[in-house]
Amino acid sequence: MSLSLTPQGSHFVDGAYVEDADGAVIDVIFPATGEQMAKLHSATTAIVEAAVESAQRAQRIWAAVSPLERGRVLQRAAQLIRENNEALSELETYDTGKPIQETLVADATSGADSLEFFGGMIAADSGQYIPLGGGDFALTKREPLGVCLGIGAWNYPTQIACWKAAPALAGGNAMIFKPSETTPLCALKIAEIFIEAGAPKGLFNVVQGYGDVGAMLVNHPGIEKVSLTGSVPTGRKVAGAAAAALKHITMELGGKSPILVFEDADIESAIGAAMLGNFYSSGQICSNGTRVFVHEAIHDRFVARLTERTESILIGDPRNPDVQYGPMVTKAQMQIALDYIEIGKAEGATLQTGGVRVSPSDAPDGFFVSPAVFIGVTDDMRIAREEIFGPVMSVLKFASEDEVVARANATEFGLAAGIFTQDITRAHRVIDRLEAGTCWINTYNQTPVQMPFGGVKASGFGRENSAAALDHYTQLKSVYVAAGPVDSPY
Ligand code: NDP
Repeated sequence: MSLSLTPQGSHFVDGAYVEDADGAVIDVIFPATGEQMAKLHSATTAIVEAAVESAQRAQRIWAAVSPLERGRVLQRAAQLIRENNEALSELETYDTGKPIQETLVADATSGADSLEFFGGMIAADSGQYIPLGGGDFALTKREPLGVCLGIGAWNYPTQIACWKAAPALAGGNAMIFKPSETTPLCALKIAEIFIEAGAPKGLFNVVQGYGDVGAMLVNHPGIEKVSLTGSVPTGRKVAGAAAAALKHITMELGGKSPILVFEDADIESAIGAAMLGNFYSSGQICSNGTRVFVHEAIHDRFVARLTERTESILIGDPRNPDVQYGPMVTKAQMQIALDYIEIGKAEGATLQTGGVRVSPSDAPDGFFVSPAVFIGVTDDMRIAREEIFGPVMSVLKFASEDEVVARANATEFGLAAGIFTQDITRAHRVIDRLEAGTCWINTYNQTPVQMPFGGVKASGFGRENSAAALDHYTQLKSVYVAAGPVDSPY
């Protein structure tokens, strides 16, 4: 694949690429080299209006299609994604900088899982029959909301587009998707695939743009629901705007999740999970377990082995299949991580390993920060309180279960949590006390489509994946059916 990845148009509306060069320029940069790969334009009002109008048209057609046939289209799209996994994974690597060994197994494939799951379940979904006596009964029907807006973060551009589109389309809605302007390329391919799979034109439109385009769409009266994956500050703005117009929302926001490693844990597994939960995707994952609480009895052993394993990670050009760790998505995101590393040092934490800008020989100009492990971290430090969204792990020592649960919960976030212990009773007892929407016992960051995913507290509302996600893209209609005459006092 050459580095000229400019699509035929910036946006995909009503089944075709469209362009409006009046929109602000979006430069698309390959994070491993800093080279420009594409030049796109942010949407103008004309593009937004065309996208909403076409989505409304498609939604009316689509809602009348039987759930079985809707499911078939989604499953065909899943099949096409799988057949094109290699090309889609390469594109994801260019868009985000994530290593090809990650994108081949974690992005398009996860999107396909989602389309298969919702495509398969929608025809089996049914309403309720509620007997009311005297021959009367009520029934419920699940109905679509209309045109749903998906707004994506830049870390999983293909996966986020599919995780939002699959339940939305299965439920009879249309979707307009606005990718992050940092990673605008992948969702366009998903839009092409939906058309090839037989979806009506306009059912899945992609509109590019900066935050102002997102805001324009959120406020558009033709949009019935907004599903955002992004940061807490953006979530507050988007949820506020949607609430003013009484629109439905799903908010998948940030986190500062804890991993609790008890003294009886399988240490190698706990270290492996802590590394995955801090360094996969160069640490740019919302559910990362960036506060690693380790019991004092095993702390030093844990840190020694963690350091050894972290220092053996292969950093380099993400296109090389052997490379395990790529650049950060942008220079700005790299600088944020480097700034937090300085803050950590200034606050008195010890930088055990990594945490510097590196220039691998095969990608010397990329935005690389070596995986950082801080020890001696205390709860009040900014690196232990704020979401960095970079490869910065904080290791914190604890002595007792009550203490670590209280410390783990002492955050505004509540996205995820993990616990490592061989004591299954303790595992469940602790999980019950943790304030987090998604929890793992003896593993971390596994997000199969069958399991609901989402946060509590400031980490958001609603759930993605699983049958639960369908509830967030549909509304129930209740119907009372009377068997006898109306008994009226008038
Ligand atoms: P941002 O919150 O900066 O942006 C998210 C999206 O919202 C982007 O497409 C952005 O556009 C758009 N946007 C920004 N302002 C507005 C607005 N006022 N109205 C409508 N849309 C707007 O997040 P990042 O892209 O930086 O992603 C990182 C964040 O995402 C982290 O906090 C991370 O935790 C979170 N995240 C959460 C996940 C979850 O499932 N819980 C998963 C992945 C990431 P633009 O980029 O053009 O400004």
